[in-house]
Amino acid sequence: MSIRTRFAPSPTGYLHVGGARTALFSWLYARKNGGKFILRIEDTDLERSSQASVDAILEGMEWLGLEYDEGPFYQTQRFDRYKEVIQQLLDQGDAYYCYCSREELDALREQQMANKEKPRYNGKCRHGAENTGERVVRFKNPEQGEVVIDDLVKGRIVVANKELDDLIIARSDGTPTYNLTVVVDDMDMGVSHVIRGDDHVNNTPRQINILKALGAQLPVYAHVPMILGSDGARLSKRHGAVSVMQYRNDGYLPEALLNYLVRLGWSHGDQELFSREEMIELFELEKVNVSASTFNTDKLLWLNHQYMMNSDPENVAKHLSWHLQQLGLDLANGPALAGVVKAQRERCKTLVDMAADSVYFFKDFSEYEEKAAKKNFKPEAADVLQHLWHQFNALTAWEIEPLHQVVLESAEQLQLGLGKVAQPLRVAVCGSGVSPAIDATLALLGKQKTLSRIEQAIQFIKSQQSAG
Ligand code: GLU
Repeated sequence: MSIRTRFAPSPTGYLHVGGARTALFSWLYARKNGGKFILRIEDTDLERSSQASVDAILEGMEWLGLEYDEGPFYQTQRFDRYKEVIQQLLDQGDAYYCYCSREELDALREQQMANKEKPRYNGKCRHGAENTGERVVRFKNPEQGEVVIDDLVKGRIVVANKELDDLIIARSDGTPTYNLTVVVDDMDMGVSHVIRGDDHVNNTPRQINILKALGAQLPVYAHVPMILGSDGARLSKRHGAVSVMQYRNDGYLPEALLNYLVRLGWSHGDQELFSREEMIELFELEKVNVSASTFNTDKLLWLNHQYMMNSDPENVAKHLSWHLQQLGLDLANGPALAGVVKAQRERCKTLVDMAADSVYFFKDFSEYEEKAAKKNFKPEAADVLQHLWHQFNALTAWEIEPLHQVVLESAEQLQLGLGKVAQPLRVAVCGSGVSPAIDATLALLGKQKTLSRIEQAIQFIKSQQSAG
C-alpha cells in the first residue's frame, strides 16, 4: 500500500501549535514510510474562512519546513465533485431528501431531551416524504451492525450503528457539509492514513459508513490527543502563544518548536533532542500517548537554547537575520552573522534576545547605558581608552588572540586590574556593560568601528568632566 497522509486545516485562524503537531505527525508518517504528504485547505465555511488565514497556514508550514508533496487543494474548488457524489448517493439509495422544517426538528430535539434521550434525527423522511419545498440531503446510515475502528493511537473503537442518526450531507442551498467533503477528498486523494485531532473521533464512524457506501477503500485512522495548557484547560491564548508564527516572532527556532511538538505526547526512551532525520527514523504513531499532553513553555525555551547552541551557526544566522531586520538594522553594515551567533549563543535563549543584544554590531550610538557609564566612565578611564586606542591602532592582525593580548598587556602596563580596562572598553564599544568576551566582541566589530567608538567615548568622558 502506498502511504498517503494529509493535513486538512480549516482556514479560520492562524496555524496553532495543536494543528502544527497534527501536521508534523502526518508529515513524519509519510516521510518515514516513503509516502506522500498532502495539504488540503478545508475552506467550505465561507463565513469563517479567510485568505489571511490561508496565508498564515502556508507561512507556518513553510517556516516549520513541513513541505507537502501535493496541494494545497482547496475544497471550495471542488463543489462540482461533491455535488456529483451527493447525487450518486441519492441515485443508489444511500441518501434521501429530508423536508423536515427547523421547527419540527427543534420540537423533536426538545422532546428527546425531556425524555433524557440522546438528541438525534428520527429518520422521518427516510422512507419517502412529501416534497414541501426546502430540503436537505441526509445520508442513510445503516441501522444494523457496528463500525469498528482500529485507531493507531486510541486502539479499537466500536460504535453501534443504531447510535448514529442520518446525517445531513447537503444543506438546503445545496452546499456539502464537512463530513461529506472530507470523505470525498480522502477517497479521491487516496489518503491511506487519516491522522488528525481527536476532536474528530466522533465523526469517524459516520465517515466510514459514507466511504463504505461509496465503495471506497477505508483509510487507517490515528486520532491524536489534544494539547492542554499548564492549568489543564484546552490550550488557548491565556497560556502564552498559540500561533506558530508567534513563536517565530518570540525568537524560537523552527527546529526547536518541531522537536518540542514531536516530544509532546511521544517519546523514544529518555531522548530529548531529535534532528529532523532522527524524528523521521524513530517516530511511531503507535507510541503516541492516548492522554492529552500539557504544554510547557520552560521546556520549549530550554530546547530552543539547545538548538541555538548546537545547530550550524549559519542556520541560526539565517533566522537571526530576520529578527535583526525587524529591528530595522542594516545588515550590510556589520559582521557576518554566523560570527555573531557563535559569540552570543551561550548567553541568549531566544533569537529576540540575541538580536536585541547585538544591535551595537550594526548601528552606532551616541548614548550609553546610564548605570554602566556612571560606573566605568570615570575621568581616569579616558586615559585607559586613549592607551587602548593606540595599541589597537597599531595592531595589524584584527583577530581574537592579538586583541586579547592587547587588553592583557594594557592592564599590565597601566597597572590596573583587568576589569578596569575591559569594562570601560566594553561600554565604549557596546554602549552597555554586557557583551560577549571583549576580544570576540572587538573582533566582530572590526578595527574601524572599535577605534571610532573609543574616540567617541573619550570625548564623552571629557565632556562629562567639563560639564561636571
Ligand atoms: N478541517 C478539519 C479541522 O480543521 C480537519 C478535518 C480532518 O482532519 O479530517 O479541524
